[in-house]
Amino acid sequence: MSVTTTALAPWSTSSSAPAEARPQLTFDLDVEVCVVGGGIAGLLVALEAARHGASVAVLESHQVAWNASGHHLGTVRPGFGGDIADLIARVGRDHAGRLWQLTRGGADHIRAMAAEMSDVALTDGVLDVANTDIGDRLAGRLQLLERFGADVEGWPVERVRETLKTPRYFQAVHYPGAFHLHALNFTRELVSLAEQAGVRIFEQTPVISIDAAGLRKRIVTPLARMRASSIVLAGNVHLGSLFQRLSRTLLPVWRYAAVTEPLGDSLASAIDYRGAVVGSAGVDHYRIVDGDRLLWAGPVTTWNGNPRRFASRVERHIRSVFPQLSGVKVADIWSGATGETVHGMPQIGQLRHGFWVASGFGGQGLATSAMAAQLIAGAMFSSDDRWRLFSPFELVWAGGPAGRVAGQLVYSWWRGQAELAGAFARYRERAGKRERQRDARLAAASRAVRPTALRPTASASQDVRPPQPAAAQRADGNLAGS
Ligand SMILES: Cc1cc2nc3c(=O)[nH]c(=O)nc-3n(C[C@H](O)[C@H](O)[C@H](O)COP(=O)(O)OP(=O)(O)OC[C@H]3O[C@@H](n4cnc5c(N)ncnc54)[C@H](O)[C@@H]3O)c2cc1C
Repeated sequence: MSVTTTALAPWSTSSSAPAEARPQLTFDLDVEVCVVGGGIAGLLVALEAARHGASVAVLESHQVAWNASGHHLGTVRPGFGGDIADLIARVGRDHAGRLWQLTRGGADHIRAMAAEMSDVALTDGVLDVANTDIGDRLAGRLQLLERFGADVEGWPVERVRETLKTPRYFQAVHYPGAFHLHALNFTRELVSLAEQAGVRIFEQTPVISIDAAGLRKRIVTPLARMRASSIVLAGNVHLGSLFQRLSRTLLPVWRYAAVTEPLGDSLASAIDYRGAVVGSAGVDHYRIVDGDRLLWAGPVTTWNGNPRRFASRVERHIRSVFPQLSGVKVADIWSGATGETVHGMPQIGQLRHGFWVASGFGGQGLATSAMAAQLIAGAMFSSDDRWRLFSPFELVWAGGPAGRVAGQLVYSWWRGQAELAGAFARYRERAGKRERQRDARLAAASRAVRPTALRPTASASQDVRPPQPAAAQRADGNLAGS
């Protein structure tokens, strides 16, 4: 098994576009827009700004897409990482709906860009599976999503299990218009599109300080200075001391992803779906790549763990979902750090005139960072003020080191709860099935004995009743049958 810690970590090296190094900034430069950070958020903003005709430079302290942006799973779907109910509770249904629709615009934007790219293997469909029996609540969820403008369909349990051959999942929400693509190739082609649009990218160029006062803002790097009318901070969790007011509001969370060795024909006995599968409880996220391998998201930590340590855990988890894949082996595993906000929403806004933030995209950063790029460029060049819809989500301190510990506890607890809820739902389903089988046996036995044994007499007719199905004998609320 290999372990990858650099940006060049596609699941299949042979299918990735060649990586090229970009120069360091060694001379003073004046531009209209300076973007700090060469991840997908920074690159998307830079591309949008350049397409509006601005002169743009991206300053990247390492190499473009070396972190999360080169290591994600490539699933693009509308919505935010947090719970939709929390979002509605915070800003109301209409506001939440408008925010949600913006992410749909972000997803459409990625699709349009992918159409300009050559090798990103865009594949349609995302299946959001429930690991507990959500029964009638599925209809309510679909209605809400439809009202938010989402293109969704509900799948009953039978259809889900015909497609994903495991008792793990119950109902699902299918997003036929959502999709996935080859993560690293997308990012590399995004770099090409940005450069074709005139964006200048400088690598190994950390921004050390910023003076954002005044119309022309000053940016200092180790070997050169820049001046710009607008600055966009898109540094995610690595912004650090450059702008602590922002970095303190992000909880760094390392996410892990693994690709398996080829699984051959056994894969067909487990999965009959080419889109991406995401567990609504956040426990599972996977899809088929290269015909017969699985790309599978691992656990999350609030420290930078060695990915190798999680390989066997990923294998065990795959086996627990699909026991038919008993021989599964992880071929490669890697990680990337994402920035999570306390409220679960990205940080999109203007800190002062011409000083913008595009950050905190968490584990669902593709559609949302594309949306941020559209909003920020729209505000800079077309007086579009929809970015203000994000004003309710302030920069809230993420708790520092104590926040990391608390965050890990919450993640572990939440994941544990989700797995527990799933296990309990499956237990109830099995218990219900056993009850129904027993009822059927009792009913059959009752039918078999009735003609000969039960010739009612006046007294016996008061005492002898055919056996009642067990479920009917139980009072409502008995857990095993509820
Ligand atoms: C394993 C994994 C799976 C994921 N799967 C998905 C998925 O399927 N779908 C999805 O939508 N999202 C997914 N994500 C999340 C997504 O990858 C992130 O939300 C997104 O990449 C964040 O992009 P970014 O540009 O904000 O951050 P980054 O990629 O971290 O880029 C920020 C850049 O800023 C640079 N920087 C910071 N400070 C400075 C400075 N002072 N000077 C210069 N440069 C600086 C950093 O070096 C870095 O390169 C996944 C993430 C991981 C790790």
